[in-house]
Amino acid sequence: MLVAAPMSDATPSGYARATRDLLRDQPGVRSAITKATTESNHHRDDAYAQVDIDAWRDWARDVKTHVLTNLEDYLVQAEDALVANGVRVHWAEGAEDTLDILRTIAHDNGVRRVVKGKSMLSEELGVNRGLEADGIHVRETDLGEYIIQLRGEPPSHIVGPALHLSLDDCQALFHDVLETPRDASAEVIAAAARQALRQEFLDADMGISGGNFLVAETGTVALIENEGNIRLSTSLPHVHVALVGIEKLLPTLDDLAGFLQLTARAATGQGIGNYVSLVQGPRQAGEIDGPDQVHVILVDNGRSGLLADDAAWEALRCVRCGACLNICPVYRQTGGHPYGWAYSGPIGAILAPGLLGLEASLPLPYASSLCGACADVCPVRIPIPDLLVYWRERAVEEGLVPKSESLAMKAFSATATRPALFKAMASTLRHLPVEKGGRALPVLKDWAATRDLPDTDGPTFSTLWKRGIE
Ligand code: SF4
Repeated sequence: MLVAAPMSDATPSGYARATRDLLRDQPGVRSAITKATTESNHHRDDAYAQVDIDAWRDWARDVKTHVLTNLEDYLVQAEDALVANGVRVHWAEGAEDTLDILRTIAHDNGVRRVVKGKSMLSEELGVNRGLEADGIHVRETDLGEYIIQLRGEPPSHIVGPALHLSLDDCQALFHDVLETPRDASAEVIAAAARQALRQEFLDADMGISGGNFLVAETGTVALIENEGNIRLSTSLPHVHVALVGIEKLLPTLDDLAGFLQLTARAATGQGIGNYVSLVQGPRQAGEIDGPDQVHVILVDNGRSGLLADDAAWEALRCVRCGACLNICPVYRQTGGHPYGWAYSGPIGAILAPGLLGLEASLPLPYASSLCGACADVCPVRIPIPDLLVYWRERAVEEGLVPKSESLAMKAFSATATRPALFKAMASTLRHLPVEKGGRALPVLKDWAATRDLPDTDGPTFSTLWKRGIE
């Protein structure tokens, strides 16, 4: 079976090293991500507080669960509706299939220049690299995506691809590329990008977008954005292609109305995105704009395999809002790059084993403190911590974790279930020398590389507890 292509040379297996390198070499990323995600969390909290969010999240969970348990029927219904709308429907098993379909569409229409709306699925599939290898010029048009494309980087966040960058980073980039003043304001930078991108839209032969949702009853591809670039990408070029994961289906337009609002609240704290585009097919006679051809590529890329997993399938309810990234204390230290593939943070850690394979995804399921904050904010109630534990258990069962770790856990379990032994060990361990960057037992080496043990003078918890109840 074809598998997902990572969008850069990084891979999940390099997570630990990439994290260390980033924290050492790019300290600005941590503060940029923390600042941006803190704001997003405030906005989401405010937006959730304005509605009966628990009831809304229950409803959204149930709708997505219903669709996923009847996916085949809804896919057939969606295909029929799309075809009736004049849309050409393609099915792709994986990244290579998708690229072949795109290449054929491009070839048949003499396409040399492409404009793209933001699409995480296209990042997952490596679409830009595939088309550029064929000599096709591809331009990202979402401002964040445009910035990281100019820097030659993958996105650092599902919703805010350039969240890891400071204004200073952008000033330097735009000064080099578009000759804006070195101290240009954010407004001047945005205006320069707008000017450059406007010509790209006018020159493009083909537009590519993702699809936030696909409504089965009407064959409507729905796209949420805040900048208007998706609207231009879907309507100016004479060919439009929407890449849609097969899990993106919703039954009806009424469902769509609820999901558009819930997703915006979770992602950015807005009641609804600034622009919502409903792609309903090619331009009809008498209409003044819109593409002559609309293609929808329905992409599997490991999703049907994940759906067949009795526990892990729930990750497919994801609407890619990014709320779990914003709240995650692990993601917030580094942003998304160390995760080594398109999806980072908690959702990336539970999707990777399903889409890339468990062995190729390690150690991402371990990149979590299991604090549960992600599950508290997820608009479709994905039990993310349970799924992280599920994948960890699978890794142990399949012998994919180091033997030393299994032995250490067994030893801990044996000690923790024998109070006298536990007490004796605790009293011995608290006197071991552990200094930041200094001496430590091999098993504590990584931990001690960046931490001191807390001061262990004074009475233990057990002693205090005993005194308290005497
Ligand atoms: S797992 Fe939930 S919170 Fe995270 S991106 Fe998906 S829908 Fe949003």
